[in-house]
Amino acid sequence: MSEPTRDQYTFTDPSKLYADSDPKRQHQPEPGLEAKLDPKPDLGEETYRGTGRLQGRKALVTGADSGIGAATVIAFAREGADVVMAYLPEEESDAQRIASIAQDAGVQVFTIPGDLREAEYCRDLVARAAESLGGLDLVVNNGGKQVYVEEITELDDEQFDDTFKTNVYAMFWITKAAVPHLRPGSTIINTTSIQAYEPSPILVDYASTKATINAFTKAIAQQLAPKGIRVNAVAPGPVWTVLQVTDGQPPEKLDEFGEDTPLGRMGQPAELAPAFVFLASAESSYVIGETLGVTGGKVTP
Ligand code: NAD
Ligand code: MG
Repeated sequence: MSEPTRDQYTFTDPSKLYADSDPKRQHQPEPGLEAKLDPKPDLGEETYRGTGRLQGRKALVTGADSGIGAATVIAFAREGADVVMAYLPEEESDAQRIASIAQDAGVQVFTIPGDLREAEYCRDLVARAAESLGGLDLVVNNGGKQVYVEEITELDDEQFDDTFKTNVYAMFWITKAAVPHLRPGSTIINTTSIQAYEPSPILVDYASTKATINAFTKAIAQQLAPKGIRVNAVAPGPVWTVLQVTDGQPPEKLDEFGEDTPLGRMGQPAELAPAFVFLASAESSYVIGETLGVTGGKVTP
Protein backbone atom coordinates (compact mmCIF):
# COMPACT_ATOMS: atom_id res chain seq x y z
CA MET A 1 0.00 0.00 0.00
CA SER A 2 1.46 3.40 -0.90
CA GLU A 3 2.02 6.13 1.75
CA PRO A 4 -0.85 8.63 1.85
CA THR A 5 0.49 12.02 0.73
CA ARG A 6 0.61 14.76 3.33
CA ASP A 7 -0.87 18.15 2.47
CA GLN A 8 -1.16 21.39 4.47
CA TYR A 9 -4.34 20.09 6.13
CA THR A 10 -2.88 16.82 7.42
CA PHE A 11 -3.02 16.57 11.24
CA THR A 12 0.63 16.77 12.30
CA ASP A 13 2.72 17.56 15.38
CA PRO A 14 4.31 20.90 14.37
CA SER A 15 7.26 20.32 16.69
CA LYS A 16 8.12 17.12 14.77
CA LEU A 17 7.37 18.43 11.30
CA TYR A 18 10.52 18.82 9.16
CA ALA A 19 12.56 17.10 11.88
CA ASP A 20 14.78 15.66 9.13
CA SER A 21 15.70 19.12 7.77
CA ASP A 22 18.71 20.56 9.60
CA PRO A 23 20.25 23.86 8.56
CA LYS A 24 23.85 23.65 7.37
CA ARG A 25 26.68 26.16 7.28
CA GLN A 26 27.15 27.48 3.76
CA HIS A 27 27.59 30.73 1.88
CA GLN A 28 26.56 32.24 -1.45
CA PRO A 29 26.90 35.76 -2.82
CA GLU A 30 23.66 37.83 -2.95
CA PRO A 31 20.96 37.18 -4.11
CA GLY A 32 21.89 33.49 -4.20
CA LEU A 33 20.24 30.57 -5.93
CA GLU A 34 17.83 28.33 -4.14
CA ALA A 35 18.92 25.46 -6.40
CA LYS A 36 22.25 25.51 -4.52
CA LEU A 37 20.75 25.68 -1.03
CA ASP A 38 21.34 22.59 1.14
CA PRO A 39 19.02 21.19 2.42
CA LYS A 40 16.35 22.26 -0.08
CA PRO A 41 13.56 24.29 1.51
CA ASP A 42 10.01 22.97 1.24
CA LEU A 43 8.01 25.30 -1.00
CA GLY A 44 4.98 23.04 -0.91
CA GLU A 45 5.81 21.54 -4.30
CA GLU A 46 4.61 18.11 -3.17
CA THR A 47 2.17 19.16 -0.44
CA TYR A 48 0.21 22.36 -1.15
CA ARG A 49 -3.34 21.47 -2.13
CA GLY A 50 -5.49 24.22 -3.62
CA THR A 51 -9.24 24.42 -3.12
CA GLY A 52 -10.18 27.34 -5.39
CA ARG A 53 -9.75 30.06 -2.79
CA LEU A 54 -8.27 32.54 -5.31
CA GLN A 55 -10.11 31.48 -8.45
CA GLY A 56 -9.62 34.01 -11.26
CA ARG A 57 -7.50 36.39 -9.19
CA LYS A 58 -4.69 38.35 -10.85
CA ALA A 59 -1.59 38.46 -8.67
CA LEU A 60 1.78 40.20 -8.70
CA VAL A 61 4.41 38.73 -6.36
CA THR A 62 7.91 40.19 -5.88
CA GLY A 63 10.83 38.04 -4.73
CA ALA A 64 8.86 35.28 -6.45
CA ASP A 65 11.70 33.04 -7.63
CA SER A 66 12.62 31.50 -4.28
CA GLY A 67 11.73 31.11 -0.62
CA ILE A 68 8.56 32.59 0.81
CA GLY A 69 7.63 34.35 -2.45
CA ALA A 70 8.02 31.16 -4.48
CA ALA A 71 5.94 29.11 -2.01
CA THR A 72 3.30 31.85 -2.26
CA VAL A 73 3.33 31.70 -6.08
CA ILE A 74 2.82 27.91 -6.00
CA ALA A 75 -0.04 28.28 -3.51
CA PHE A 76 -1.70 31.16 -5.40
CA ALA A 77 -1.51 29.22 -8.67
CA ARG A 78 -3.01 26.07 -7.11
CA GLU A 79 -5.78 28.25 -5.62
CA GLY A 80 -6.61 29.39 -9.16
CA ALA A 81 -4.82 32.75 -9.53
CA ASP A 82 -2.87 33.92 -12.57
CA VAL A 83 0.49 35.23 -11.40
CA VAL A 84 3.21 37.68 -12.46
CA MET A 85 6.55 36.81 -10.89
CA ALA A 86 9.16 39.54 -10.20
CA TYR A 87 12.78 38.79 -9.23
CA LEU A 88 16.35 39.73 -10.15
CA PRO A 89 17.61 38.73 -13.62
CA GLU A 90 20.39 36.59 -12.10
CA GLU A 91 17.69 34.43 -10.46
CA GLU A 92 16.19 33.37 -13.82
CA SER A 93 16.88 29.64 -13.31
CA ASP A 94 15.15 29.55 -9.91
CA ALA A 95 12.26 31.58 -11.37
CA GLN A 96 11.78 29.25 -14.34
CA ARG A 97 11.49 26.24 -12.04
CA ILE A 98 8.78 27.95 -10.00
CA ALA A 99 6.96 29.28 -13.09
CA SER A 100 6.82 25.76 -14.48
CA ILE A 101 5.41 24.29 -11.23
CA ALA A 102 2.84 27.10 -11.06
CA GLN A 103 1.82 26.60 -14.72
CA ASP A 104 1.14 22.94 -13.97
CA ALA A 105 -1.84 24.19 -11.96
CA GLY A 106 -3.39 25.33 -15.26
CA VAL A 107 -3.10 29.08 -14.66
CA GLN A 108 -1.22 31.79 -16.55
CA VAL A 109 2.23 32.72 -15.23
CA PHE A 110 4.33 35.64 -16.47
CA THR A 111 7.88 36.58 -15.47
CA ILE A 112 9.09 40.20 -15.33
CA PRO A 113 12.63 40.32 -13.88
CA GLY A 114 14.27 43.57 -12.77
CA ASP A 115 15.76 45.53 -9.90
CA LEU A 116 13.37 46.70 -7.16
CA ARG A 117 15.80 49.47 -6.20
CA GLU A 118 14.78 51.28 -9.39
CA ALA A 119 11.56 53.31 -9.33
CA GLU A 120 11.14 53.03 -13.11
CA TYR A 121 11.26 49.23 -12.98
CA CYS A 122 8.71 49.14 -10.14
CA ARG A 123 6.25 51.36 -11.99
CA ASP A 124 6.79 49.52 -15.26
CA LEU A 125 6.39 46.18 -13.47
CA VAL A 126 2.92 47.14 -12.26
CA ALA A 127 1.86 48.46 -15.68
CA ARG A 128 3.13 45.35 -17.47
CA ALA A 129 1.63 43.03 -14.85
CA ALA A 130 -1.79 44.62 -15.25
CA GLU A 131 -1.47 44.41 -19.03
CA SER A 132 -0.36 40.76 -19.04
CA LEU A 133 -2.99 39.64 -16.55
CA GLY A 134 -5.79 41.81 -17.95
CA GLY A 135 -6.04 43.62 -14.60
CA LEU A 136 -4.57 43.35 -11.13
CA ASP A 137 -6.27 42.55 -7.81
CA LEU A 138 -3.58 41.04 -5.61
CA VAL A 139 -0.15 42.50 -4.86
CA VAL A 140 2.47 40.86 -2.65
CA ASN A 141 5.45 43.07 -1.76
CA ASN A 142 7.83 40.34 -0.64
CA GLY A 143 11.23 40.96 -2.27
CA GLY A 144 13.78 41.87 0.38
CA LYS A 145 17.42 42.43 1.24
CA GLN A 146 19.02 41.28 4.52
CA VAL A 147 22.78 41.55 5.07
CA TYR A 148 24.21 41.48 8.58
CA VAL A 149 26.85 43.99 9.69
CA GLU A 150 28.45 43.70 13.14
CA GLU A 151 29.31 47.37 13.71
CA ILE A 152 27.49 50.54 12.61
CA THR A 153 30.89 51.99 11.66
CA GLU A 154 31.05 49.20 9.03
CA LEU A 155 27.49 49.71 7.76
CA ASP A 156 28.14 51.73 4.63
CA ASP A 157 25.75 54.26 3.17
CA GLU A 158 25.30 52.19 0.04
CA GLN A 159 24.01 49.15 1.95
CA PHE A 160 21.73 51.29 4.14
CA ASP A 161 20.32 52.83 0.97
CA ASP A 162 19.98 49.48 -0.86
CA THR A 163 18.16 47.86 2.06
CA PHE A 164 15.68 50.73 2.28
CA LYS A 165 15.25 50.90 -1.51
CA THR A 166 14.56 47.17 -1.80
CA ASN A 167 12.41 46.67 1.29
CA VAL A 168 10.62 50.02 1.67
CA TYR A 169 10.83 52.23 -1.43
CA ALA A 170 9.88 49.40 -3.80
CA MET A 171 6.79 48.69 -1.66
CA PHE A 172 5.87 52.39 -1.87
CA TRP A 173 6.48 52.64 -5.64
CA ILE A 174 4.61 49.41 -6.40
CA THR A 175 1.67 50.19 -4.10
CA LYS A 176 1.32 53.71 -5.50
CA ALA A 177 1.37 52.44 -9.08
CA ALA A 178 -0.97 49.52 -8.30
CA VAL A 179 -3.80 51.35 -6.52
CA PRO A 180 -5.34 52.85 -9.71
CA HIS A 181 -5.65 49.28 -11.07
CA LEU A 182 -7.15 47.74 -7.92
CA ARG A 183 -10.92 47.24 -7.93
CA PRO A 184 -12.84 46.84 -4.64
CA GLY A 185 -12.09 43.41 -3.19
CA SER A 186 -8.40 43.63 -4.11
CA THR A 187 -5.75 42.87 -1.53
CA ILE A 188 -2.17 43.93 -0.85
CA ILE A 189 0.15 41.90 1.39
CA ASN A 190 3.56 43.08 2.58
CA THR A 191 6.24 40.79 4.01
CA THR A 192 7.60 42.18 7.25
CA SER A 193 9.49 40.16 9.92
CA ILE A 194 9.83 39.22 13.57
CA GLN A 195 12.77 41.65 13.23
CA ALA A 196 10.24 44.51 13.34
CA TYR A 197 9.67 43.66 17.02
CA GLU A 198 12.82 41.82 18.06
CA PRO A 199 15.61 43.56 16.13
CA SER A 200 19.01 41.85 16.06
CA PRO A 201 21.99 44.07 16.91
CA ILE A 202 23.63 43.07 13.60
CA LEU A 203 20.55 43.87 11.44
CA VAL A 204 20.11 47.58 12.17
CA ASP A 205 19.17 48.58 8.62
CA TYR A 206 17.07 45.48 7.89
CA ALA A 207 15.12 45.53 11.17
CA SER A 208 14.39 49.23 10.66
CA THR A 209 12.88 48.55 7.24
CA LYS A 210 10.69 45.81 8.66
CA ALA A 211 9.29 48.11 11.39
CA THR A 212 8.66 50.66 8.62
CA ILE A 213 6.78 48.06 6.57
CA ASN A 214 4.47 47.43 9.54
CA ALA A 215 3.72 51.13 9.99
CA PHE A 216 3.26 51.65 6.23
CA THR A 217 0.87 48.67 6.13
CA LYS A 218 -1.26 49.95 9.00
CA ALA A 219 -1.43 53.51 7.62
CA ILE A 220 -2.23 52.62 4.02
CA ALA A 221 -4.69 49.93 5.16
CA GLN A 222 -6.84 52.60 6.81
CA GLN A 223 -6.58 54.84 3.75
CA LEU A 224 -7.60 52.13 1.28
CA ALA A 225 -10.25 50.28 3.33
CA PRO A 226 -13.04 52.70 2.31
CA LYS A 227 -12.15 51.93 -1.33
CA GLY A 228 -12.66 48.22 -0.61
CA ILE A 229 -8.94 47.43 -0.86
CA ARG A 230 -7.49 45.50 2.07
CA VAL A 231 -3.83 45.75 3.09
CA ASN A 232 -2.17 43.40 5.57
CA ALA A 233 1.26 42.00 6.35
CA VAL A 234 2.86 38.67 7.19
CA ALA A 235 5.70 38.57 9.75
CA PRO A 236 7.79 35.42 9.31
CA GLY A 237 10.10 34.14 12.03
CA PRO A 238 13.26 32.24 11.07
CA VAL A 239 12.53 30.53 7.74
CA TRP A 240 14.97 28.40 5.74
CA THR A 241 15.67 30.35 2.57
CA VAL A 242 18.66 31.45 0.51
CA LEU A 243 18.36 34.90 2.13
CA GLN A 244 19.94 33.43 5.28
CA VAL A 245 23.02 32.02 3.52
CA THR A 246 23.73 35.17 1.47
CA ASP A 247 24.97 37.04 4.56
CA GLY A 248 21.52 37.27 6.14
CA GLN A 249 23.19 35.59 9.13
CA PRO A 250 26.81 34.97 10.07
CA PRO A 251 27.51 31.41 8.73
CA GLU A 252 28.32 30.06 12.23
CA LYS A 253 24.82 31.06 13.36
CA LEU A 254 23.19 28.90 10.70
CA ASP A 255 23.89 25.71 12.71
CA GLU A 256 21.27 26.64 15.30
CA PHE A 257 19.02 28.66 13.00
CA GLY A 258 15.46 28.63 14.38
CA GLU A 259 16.28 26.64 17.52
CA ASP A 260 15.39 29.62 19.72
CA THR A 261 11.71 29.43 18.72
CA PRO A 262 9.20 27.65 21.02
CA LEU A 263 8.85 24.98 18.32
CA GLY A 264 12.62 24.56 18.46
CA ARG A 265 13.12 24.54 14.69
CA MET A 266 13.28 26.79 11.65
CA GLY A 267 10.20 27.27 9.50
CA GLN A 268 9.80 26.27 5.86
CA PRO A 269 8.43 28.57 3.13
CA ALA A 270 5.54 26.12 2.66
CA GLU A 271 4.39 27.02 6.19
CA LEU A 272 4.15 30.71 5.23
CA ALA A 273 2.13 30.39 2.02
CA PRO A 274 -1.23 29.65 3.72
CA ALA A 275 -0.97 32.96 5.62
CA PHE A 276 -0.64 34.81 2.30
CA VAL A 277 -3.56 32.85 0.83
CA PHE A 278 -5.74 33.72 3.83
CA LEU A 279 -4.96 37.45 3.64
CA ALA A 280 -5.37 37.44 -0.16
CA SER A 281 -8.75 35.77 -0.27
CA ALA A 282 -12.17 37.20 0.58
CA GLU A 283 -12.40 34.94 3.65
CA SER A 284 -10.33 37.60 5.50
CA SER A 285 -12.79 40.36 4.51
CA TYR A 286 -12.79 41.97 8.02
CA VAL A 287 -9.01 41.69 8.51
CA ILE A 288 -7.34 45.02 7.73
CA GLY A 289 -4.00 46.54 8.75
CA GLU A 290 -3.08 43.31 10.53
CA THR A 291 0.36 41.75 10.75
CA LEU A 292 -0.01 37.99 10.88
CA GLY A 293 2.94 36.48 12.72
CA VAL A 294 4.16 33.10 11.45
CA THR A 295 7.04 32.75 13.85
CA GLY A 296 7.15 29.26 15.33
CA GLY A 297 5.87 30.76 18.55
CA LYS A 298 8.20 33.75 18.93
CA VAL A 299 6.04 36.35 20.65
CA THR A 300 4.83 39.37 18.67
CA PRO A 301 2.90 42.39 20.03
P1 NAD B 1 14.70 34.80 -0.75
O1 NAD B 1 16.11 35.20 -0.91
O2 NAD B 1 14.30 33.48 -1.29
O3 NAD B 1 13.75 35.89 -1.36
C1 NAD B 1 14.08 37.26 -1.41
C2 NAD B 1 13.91 37.72 -2.83
O4 NAD B 1 14.01 39.14 -2.85
C3 NAD B 1 14.97 37.23 -3.79
O5 NAD B 1 14.65 35.98 -4.32
C4 NAD B 1 14.96 38.32 -4.85
O6 NAD B 1 14.16 37.94 -5.94
C5 NAD B 1 14.30 39.50 -4.17
N1 NAD B 1 15.18 40.66 -4.22
C6 NAD B 1 16.17 41.01 -3.37
N2 NAD B 1 16.76 42.14 -3.80
C7 NAD B 1 16.12 42.51 -4.94
C8 NAD B 1 16.25 43.58 -5.85
N3 NAD B 1 17.17 44.55 -5.67
N4 NAD B 1 15.44 43.61 -6.92
C9 NAD B 1 14.51 42.66 -7.13
N5 NAD B 1 14.32 41.61 -6.29
C10 NAD B 1 15.12 41.56 -5.21
O7 NAD B 1 14.40 34.89 0.81
P2 NAD B 1 13.03 34.89 1.66
O8 NAD B 1 13.47 34.60 3.05
O9 NAD B 1 12.00 34.09 1.03
O10 NAD B 1 12.62 36.42 1.63
C11 NAD B 1 11.33 36.88 1.29
C12 NAD B 1 10.88 37.96 2.25
O11 NAD B 1 10.72 37.37 3.54
C13 NAD B 1 11.85 39.11 2.44
O12 NAD B 1 11.12 40.32 2.48
C14 NAD B 1 12.46 38.83 3.80
O13 NAD B 1 12.90 40.02 4.42
C15 NAD B 1 11.28 38.22 4.50
N6 NAD B 1 11.60 37.46 5.72
C16 NAD B 1 12.34 36.33 5.65
C17 NAD B 1 12.64 35.64 6.82
C18 NAD B 1 13.46 34.39 6.82
O14 NAD B 1 13.82 33.91 7.89
N7 NAD B 1 13.78 33.80 5.68
C19 NAD B 1 12.15 36.11 8.04
C20 NAD B 1 11.39 37.27 8.07
C21 NAD B 1 11.12 37.93 6.89
MG1 MG C 1 15.85 34.28 -4.96
